[in-house]
Amino acid sequence: MNTATATAATAAPKASPRRAIECGVPDNQQYLHPLLKKNYGAWKYHDRPRPGVLHHVARSGDEVWSVRAGTQRQMDVGTVRKLCDIADQYAEGHVRFTIRSNIEFMVSAADKVAPLIEKLEAEGFPVGGTGNSVSMIAHTQGWLHCDIPGTDASGAVKALMDELITEFRREEMPNRVHLSTSCCEINCGGQADIAIIVQHTKPPKINHDLVANVCERPSVVARCPVAAIRPALVNGRPSLEVDEAKCICCGACYPPCPPMQINDPEHSKLAIWVGGKNSNARGKPTFMKMVVSGLPNNPPRWPEVSEVVKKILHTYKEDARSWERIADWIERIGWPRFFEKTGLTFTKYLIDDWRGARVNLNASTHIRF
Ligand code: SF4
Ligand code: SF4
Repeated sequence: MNTATATAATAAPKASPRRAIECGVPDNQQYLHPLLKKNYGAWKYHDRPRPGVLHHVARSGDEVWSVRAGTQRQMDVGTVRKLCDIADQYAEGHVRFTIRSNIEFMVSAADKVAPLIEKLEAEGFPVGGTGNSVSMIAHTQGWLHCDIPGTDASGAVKALMDELITEFRREEMPNRVHLSTSCCEINCGGQADIAIIVQHTKPPKINHDLVANVCERPSVVARCPVAAIRPALVNGRPSLEVDEAKCICCGACYPPCPPMQINDPEHSKLAIWVGGKNSNARGKPTFMKMVVSGLPNNPPRWPEVSEVVKKILHTYKEDARSWERIADWIERIGWPRFFEKTGLTFTKYLIDDWRGARVNLNASTHIRF
């Protein structure tokens, strides 16, 4: 063997760059209940024998009952194990979660439904959330996973759902009602018939000692939607300053620069928005509008928030026609009647409070500014 051959034989294999595996979400077929897999896309009809139970009949003649229960969404291992044990003992080993954090257990025989419901209720998981009920509140990660929350989303959900549990168990609303909570003003959350969203009311307080070490100043400046942040030298060190007359207190500067503290025990409030929906059934998807602002962020039970949400819900329940979502109801009666009927106080900061709102509001036949 010559020297060149020996060198080639002992050379390390050429390194190849490490690449991300773009696999996306896993294929859901592997997790489906066998009857759902067998009859995928071949269902004849479905109905609801009682609140909290969906009954699907396939063209093949197979039937599946799905029992829906409310959960606390952010679950400890003990609760997950408990739900899995219930799935194994009282259902057929398969569960799924809905977009509003309800859990559904599937069974293939009608006589398995009642014992399953009894067990779920006994373990503290209320059965309901189907049809024209108030479903579980979709909420954000809050203190558990996120570094910017201005309040505890799951705590507000717990306090509110304790008061709305009857409406979760029954289907007595004019149409389905989706609620959501967001613990900051900028990120999670989506459209909901009623949304509870943190509202900062003061510009951020800047800790100038930390800015130079912690924040990438150009990206913080770029983050502000109204160009209120400027680079500045403070005490001879590079820092930032905020034009408070421009600042809309959105909080967007806080995630990239925690020294721009916006959360405040007194001045971070909660606002209530209404009339959003994602669905395009009967009417197109709509954005929510703010109808109450400046509610105190008052843990552990947030009574002021509960009172307003219940007031809106009860007025909607009494006044809306069958199948009107909250947005449809308000569209029919108009914003002035919404405020009259709910007893909420209208101010110029509500409904649309962005700087171009005047144009929007003047497009309505109901309100002129
Ligand atoms: S709403 Fe905001 S604070 Fe709450 S989890 Fe989402 S990003 Fe974090
Ligand atoms: S709170 Fe919003 S508007 Fe105010 S400075 Fe920060 S990013 Fe700009």
